[in-house]
Parts: sequence; C-alpha cells; structure tokens
Amino acid sequence: MSFIAPTKPKLTLRLCEPRGFCAGVDRAIQIVVLALKKYGAPVYVRHEIVHNKYVVDGLREMGAIFVRELDEIPDDGQPVVFSAHGVPKSVPAAAADREMLYLDATCPLVSKVHKQAMLHVKRGRHVVLIGHRGHPEVIGTMGQLQPGTVSLIETVADVNAFEPEDPQALGFVTQTTLSLDDTSEIVAALQAKFPAMTAPSSESICYATTNRQEAVKASAPETDLFLIVGAPNSSNSKRLVEVAEKAGSAKGLLVRGPEDLPFDLVTGDHPLVGMSAGASAPEVLVDAIIAALRERFDVAIELVQTAEENENFPVMRSLRDTPLTVGDMAFVNGGA
Ligand code: SF4
Repeated sequence: MSFIAPTKPKLTLRLCEPRGFCAGVDRAIQIVVLALKKYGAPVYVRHEIVHNKYVVDGLREMGAIFVRELDEIPDDGQPVVFSAHGVPKSVPAAAADREMLYLDATCPLVSKVHKQAMLHVKRGRHVVLIGHRGHPEVIGTMGQLQPGTVSLIETVADVNAFEPEDPQALGFVTQTTLSLDDTSEIVAALQAKFPAMTAPSSESICYATTNRQEAVKASAPETDLFLIVGAPNSSNSKRLVEVAEKAGSAKGLLVRGPEDLPFDLVTGDHPLVGMSAGASAPEVLVDAIIAALRERFDVAIELVQTAEENENFPVMRSLRDTPLTVGDMAFVNGGA
C-alpha cells in the first residue's frame, strides 16, 4: 500500500522589499557588539538600543547591561551606549561630568533632525515638533532645546488648539518614524493656520520609514491578512500596521515572532497574506515566520519591491579598529 502525504493548503505570501533593519538600527547594534569586543563585558546600554526584545535579549546574552538612567551604572570604567533614538543633551553632559566613556549610537538621521530644530531656534523661530508624546526620540529631540522654545503637536486637534506667542516665527520638524499620510495632514493644517511657518531644509521622516510604508501600501490591496514583524513599542512598526489596513488589507497585525502567528485568521481557500518588518525587526524573525507558515501551508512567495536601499552608516571612529565579522551579527541576520 503506498502512502500519500496529505497536501497542504496553498497560501500566497506577499513579501515587502525593503523591510526590516534600517541603516541606523544596524549601526546601533554594531556599536554595542563592537564595544563588547573592544572593551569586554559589561557594556552598559541606556534604554533599549532599538525597540526589539529579541535584539535586546541577544545583546544581553553577549554581556550588555540595559539601564534606564546613568545613575544605575557603577564607576567601573566600562562604556555606556546611548540608543539609536537619541538622547537629551543633559545625558552626554552627565556622562562627561562623571568622566564616563560613552558611545552615542543616535541614528545620524535623528541627529539631523536635532540640528534642524536647533537651527530654527538660532534663527529666532519657536519649534513645532510633530511626534508622539513619551517616545524616546521625541524626548531626545525636545531635550536639545531650552524649555519654552519647543511645542509638541500630535494631532490636527492639537494644531487647532495651538496658540503660539508669535505666529510669524515658527519652524517645524517631525519624529523620523511617523505615518507619511497622517503627518502631511498635520503639516497642511499647520501651514493653513500659520502660513509663515518654516519647513525643515529636508524631510524629517527618514528614508527607511518612507520606503517601508510605500512597500506596504503597494502590497496591501486585497490581502486577507497583513503581518508586520515588530515590537509593540516600535513606532515605525505600529505605523506599518495602520498603513496596511488603510491601503486595503482586511486586517493588519503586529507579530513579535512565529509564536504570535494567528493561524485562526489564516483561513479560506488559498489565502493571500502580506508581510513586512519594522526597521528594528531582525531578518531572522522574518525567516522563522516563513518557516512556521511552511509547516502548515504550501507557501508561494510573491516579492513586492518598491525601492532599493544602499544606505550604510559607519560606526564612530573609536570602534573602527575593531573588526566586525559576519558571525558577530548572525544572531540578527541569520547564517554564521
Ligand atoms: S528608522 Fe530612520 S531614523 Fe530611525 S534609526 Fe532607522 S534610519 Fe534612523
């Protein structure tokens, strides 16, 4: 008697490209890995280096110690790394006061927003920061400026309620990871109310946020489900879920890894599922989700590529003499 293996139901997986790690996240993780190689454990990291538990746990296993504030760190001469989201000016100042060795992993594109905000102030403008209250990047950007020189705007309702001292002297910047569509609505409302308001010299929303949202927008129509690999505290990942639903997916869902796969939602004859990953989500998690789907379904992958990315942000000079091998980043990139 011959055995006939049961056939698996078909599933088409529409996979976005670009997805996952951006150059700023990759650089920040490299900085912690290289600091561990150069200085040995422990290396202290103020806040989650990037918003992803898998990455944080991986670095912790290598010897990183995550702290909320500098006063949790003993004077043992070991370095402290500041996260990719950026920090208020008071943080490096406090580290310098204690003569700590600090490595600032702030993404260069966040630093650019800091400079643009400071330029507005230098030119006599009050800064309007469009962003989410409490997000580390917003705390870091506001912390570049003196109190009273910056106002946070989160919604169009905030614009309506905003009554600045001098409506003729305003300049805006935004958080780097916002929704493109929501932000253009807020900017339009600001410009309608304050026509003299000055825009930053270049877009604050970064290339990675833009590219990931555009790829999701192009892939979402008609999908039964859209999976975004990312952490619940990752701003750019949450925005991708919203973009997927707005662009026509029946349901967008944030998943941390294969353990979150909602098999009860993947039903019907030959479902069409979309997938992308936030800028802080490692590719190993995408691979693990595809493997978990393949266990239950006959998966056909349809790649939707909307942009090519070649950005690469080098680490600071003090770490460039420490070689980074492929194996050092295998915990996030896969392979050996
Ligand atoms: S999402 Fe953009 S701003 Fe944030 S770390 Fe990545 S490249 Fe930098």
